[in-house]
Amino acid sequence: HTPVTAAATSLEQISKYNKYLNAFVDVADYDVIRSQAEDATRRWEKGQPKSPLDGTIIGYKMNFCTEELRSTCSSSMLENFQAPYTATAVELLRQAGAITGGKANMDEFGMGSHNVFSAAGVTRNPFGIVNCPTEELDTAEGRSPGGSSGGSAAAVASNMCFAALGSDTGGSVRLPASYCGVVGFKPSYGRISRWGLVAYASSLDTVGTLTKTVNDAEIVYNLISKEDPKDSTCLTQRQRDHIAQGITSVEQSEESRNTGKPLSGVRIGVPQEFNIEELSPSTKSLWRKGILALKDAGATVVPISIPNTRLAVGAYLTLATAEASSNLQRYDGIRYGHQSDEKDEKDSLYYHTRSEGFGKEVRRRILLGTYVLTSGSFDNFFLRAQKIRQTIRKDFDNVFARPNMITGSLPGEDDPERVHALLAPVAVTTAPKLEDVLGDHIDPINAYMDDIFTIPASLAGLPAMSVPFGNCANDGFPMGLQVIGQYGDEEMVFKVGRVVE
Ligand code: GLN
Repeated sequence: HTPVTAAATSLEQISKYNKYLNAFVDVADYDVIRSQAEDATRRWEKGQPKSPLDGTIIGYKMNFCTEELRSTCSSSMLENFQAPYTATAVELLRQAGAITGGKANMDEFGMGSHNVFSAAGVTRNPFGIVNCPTEELDTAEGRSPGGSSGGSAAAVASNMCFAALGSDTGGSVRLPASYCGVVGFKPSYGRISRWGLVAYASSLDTVGTLTKTVNDAEIVYNLISKEDPKDSTCLTQRQRDHIAQGITSVEQSEESRNTGKPLSGVRIGVPQEFNIEELSPSTKSLWRKGILALKDAGATVVPISIPNTRLAVGAYLTLATAEASSNLQRYDGIRYGHQSDEKDEKDSLYYHTRSEGFGKEVRRRILLGTYVLTSGSFDNFFLRAQKIRQTIRKDFDNVFARPNMITGSLPGEDDPERVHALLAPVAVTTAPKLEDVLGDHIDPINAYMDDIFTIPASLAGLPAMSVPFGNCANDGFPMGLQVIGQYGDEEMVFKVGRVVE
């Protein structure tokens, strides 16, 4: 495959399916894509590609600022927003020769799990749509692509692009990856610069990747995991060196290195609290098969406990909505974005602009977030949630054999009960039918439970990946398994992910 032929395939897929899937809201100019692909092909022919990704087509979630195309966050508030600068992660990929394919649909400002809260309309899961006879495309069963990076996952799954960037605050890369049958990777908090990624909840937001394989995820990740002075929470090179040193200071035993199996000497933890009642039997059996696959590869599997798992969703919602209510104050109708035409005396421009510009889920979260920050509930909600977040971090530190170089936890390599990575489900079920999650069918409290397995790693800032693992026997739709690693130990997540794959 040369970049030219690959680009032709992507463009064909976009022309054929995007109107049914609505994965890309904005598509880049076909002629620009073709001419960039020709340039890249020439570089490959000369043996001088800019990077392994030179000439590949990449999709970007609508919350990445890019000078080309709009950056709407799928919100009416930013419907015509043209960013004056480009996000660092996007810029790094451009320098590596990647070609922008389009901007992908999402839940407005990242708030949602099924891509149904989007001013640009819903995205459909490519499964059951692509490969279906043309005359049935309009009526084919629509399943949720997951959210909030639903467009990014759908674009990769339907081969509209080689890879896509998404953002993961509480599971927004991993859940759509599981539903659409692609690899979704969220690195440790601070690995990839958030500069130019529109903020949802800054202490949890991470840039993540959607790809077809674990290897591709690693290639994209390696190109964009760099220090960036423009984001103060992005790890500096010195911090990266320090983390790498701590992680690898613990050597595997001689015996385990010699057995030749990919996971010899690796201990995998199975978090008992994730085995909840709501888990469908097919998800459970998938999880069991995953455990067997890791054992076959030489891993030792041990049950472990993250005792505070059940408090994670509540703590996440408190913290994420509080941060969102603060981050979203900037949409005031004056500096940029939508401005209301309503000119009454009674209510302010701010009031009208925000009532018109924000969708109902965003308004719900702003209200919730403002409430938990009021003086009357601050201690009871916000502070308590912060404490829960710390205890969940400790829960993870207590089970990992390698040290967390941020919290300063002690290594426990010799302790057979402590593990190198965790294996867990990503979602309770396969992709639900769109009609079941649309409009008023969706009960917000139930919907928040969709993120029950992804949120703990987000609160602790840990690297986590959703890897497609066969189809769920009962409905043929894909499902992923989740690999979670110690802070900074992306390498272990890739290693285990490659075996799950
Ligand atoms: N579904 C979760 C939420 O709505 C996670 C979103 C995300 O990771 N951006 O908050």
